[in-house]
Amino acid sequence: MSEPENCTHDCGSCSANCDSRKMDKSSFLEKLSEGSSVKKVIGVVSGKGGVGKSLVTSLLACRMRAKNYRVGILDADITGPSIPRAFGIHGMAGVNPEGTLLMPAVTATGIEIISSNMVLEHETDPVIWRGPVIAGAVKQFWGETLWENIDYMFVDMPPGTGDVPLTVFQSLPVDGIIIVTSPQELVSMIVGKAVNMAKKMDIPILGLVENMSYLECPDCGKKISLFGESKVKEVAKEYDIPVLARIPIRPEIAKAVDEGVVEYVESGFLDKAAAVVEDI
Ligand code: ADP
Ligand code: MG
Repeated sequence: MSEPENCTHDCGSCSANCDSRKMDKSSFLEKLSEGSSVKKVIGVVSGKGGVGKSLVTSLLACRMRAKNYRVGILDADITGPSIPRAFGIHGMAGVNPEGTLLMPAVTATGIEIISSNMVLEHETDPVIWRGPVIAGAVKQFWGETLWENIDYMFVDMPPGTGDVPLTVFQSLPVDGIIIVTSPQELVSMIVGKAVNMAKKMDIPILGLVENMSYLECPDCGKKISLFGESKVKEVAKEYDIPVLARIPIRPEIAKAVDEGVVEYVESGFLDKAAAVVEDI
């Protein structure tokens, strides 16, 4: 059905079920708080947990920060938050003087972070909330936090294509997603799900990052494909998306994350990914 003749593009005051309404994603968009501004939003997704989404989010945020941009991370993995710990942040989120907005924590290099762990009294407190409450928390982290002049906001998602990614894709103005995989995944199928979700939601896919791609022998430097030969190139070709990075397994990466010093990890392997983000 085409738009009515007197269409004002304000679907809230019209009941016509026209193409314009179906296309109108903006009606779901959550507003930022007053005084906030975020230029670009990048979602980091994966088919399953433990493949390194949070690591890629953290390292990419660090690389963009190193280029002197103002960078934020919205930890949308509400039940499995791992961003604050990677940056050595353990306290609770602050509030503005009026008591109306959350204030992100600021890391050693100046990245601004908000996470469910920062609204719990103890970081070991579990989040025992149902889906709608979790989705609501994500919206609040976007709309009821003071995000001052953020150039790049990275959204670390929970695994899969469930409630939270759906909420993020509908409620936040996502400019692009990065899909993180690892060689042991059923890569093609899992990437396919993420790709198709992004397509359905009309969200550009920036590319694939393969994490835990290989191990480097500490003595001879030989690359060992611990989980078998990588299929990332074939998968990228199949879905026509670029490979942005292949990240090796490095014990010092795991150690830095555990010790809360992810900002000091050498991450030259993310140069291309950072360039793509910068080009959005
Ligand atoms: P996800 O967010 O997808 O669940 P994480 O980023 O939390 O995954 O990674 C899972 C665990 O594996 C973390 O402890 C992380 O430090 C570790 N890890 C991830 N990638 C690497 C890597 N390339 N080398 C070493 N350890 C890694
Ligand atoms: Mg994670």
